[in-house]
Amino acid sequence: MWLGIDDTDSLEGGCTTLVFHQLLDSIPCEYGEPRLTRLWPFAAQRTRGNASLSVEIYCDESIIEWLDKYWIENILPLKGQISNSEHSDRKQYPSDPGMTLFFEQPNEDYYWKAVRGEVDFYQGGHQWGGNGRIGAAASCAWRGNNRTWEGIAWRMGERKVSEEALTIVDELDGTFLCRDPRNNRGLISPRGPCPVMFGVRATSKEVAEKATKILVKNSAPTSGSRVFATNQGTGDHIESVNTLTISSKEIIQGGHVLLNEKFIAFGESGNLKLIAQWLEVGDNIEYIGMEFENKIHLEGIKVVDSKRKLRPICSCGTRMKSMGVNQGVRCPRCKKKSQQNWVTEDRSPPKSGWVQPPVDKRRHLAKSLT
Ligand SMILES: [Zn+2]
Repeated sequence: MWLGIDDTDSLEGGCTTLVFHQLLDSIPCEYGEPRLTRLWPFAAQRTRGNASLSVEIYCDESIIEWLDKYWIENILPLKGQISNSEHSDRKQYPSDPGMTLFFEQPNEDYYWKAVRGEVDFYQGGHQWGGNGRIGAAASCAWRGNNRTWEGIAWRMGERKVSEEALTIVDELDGTFLCRDPRNNRGLISPRGPCPVMFGVRATSKEVAEKATKILVKNSAPTSGSRVFATNQGTGDHIESVNTLTISSKEIIQGGHVLLNEKFIAFGESGNLKLIAQWLEVGDNIEYIGMEFENKIHLEGIKVVDSKRKLRPICSCGTRMKSMGVNQGVRCPRCKKKSQQNWVTEDRSPPKSGWVQPPVDKRRHLAKSLT
């Protein structure tokens, strides 16, 4: 059977990872690898964090009665809290927890729809609660063929991880996003009231386990830890790489760059914004991004070609000049004329290859393209 939960987060508590951890600590049956999934980030009623959790459990139908009781006593009371968002300009919805149980793993298709767009409730199985049932079911539907791991520990009181331990973990082969390479700042500990001490990411389960052990040993007291399989860093939210010829460029309010009146490079997207600013009409790029409210939010750009039109260089080494409309070009020094009015030259971008926002501005789902 597949069990999922989502949308329990609020300012007063209910961090979904901790709620799930506690549920697994008390569930009276064996279970498989816990899974943390990130879904479509623009879903209207998502609370902060945007993580849904699921696990395969090995039990019979008697678990339903146990889950009923657990739901009423431990999860339902979290309903209706307004969450504290990192993005204060975003409309806040009260948490609306959901829990789902399926005898058969839900259709994989449901996961792909839920990670790339808005979906309605999944039908079937046993379901408890409200909107959170969507993320809970979508997490159950994730097949995880492409996965990374995250080791999470929850704090008892203060949030403190030793810098030395962070350095050791950062240098392990297989961890990622431990530090921001621009300023060396640690990225594993969240800010704000959430109960997470740290979340350390890795490309293998063994490395995630090892890193978690090192960090727990060198942190302020933790109430527990667990390693989750996740869809973070997989790029699952991006359907395809597309190409684009620039037809217009505009700097809009907030310092964002708007290309072709549809594609936004956000002001805080670092080099991605720099490339967008550098582009000229006629340039060709490849891009990845997510559509929301008729705009594509860019998450990666690669300049394919950018040409500059220039007057030809004379054999004496001087650049020729126009003699006037339809008059051709001529060397200002030796007065030699040319049959060719223009030559093109490649412009080279300030950064070549794929350019993404800085690591701390990327989505949890974003895959590193370099
Ligand atoms: Zn000349």
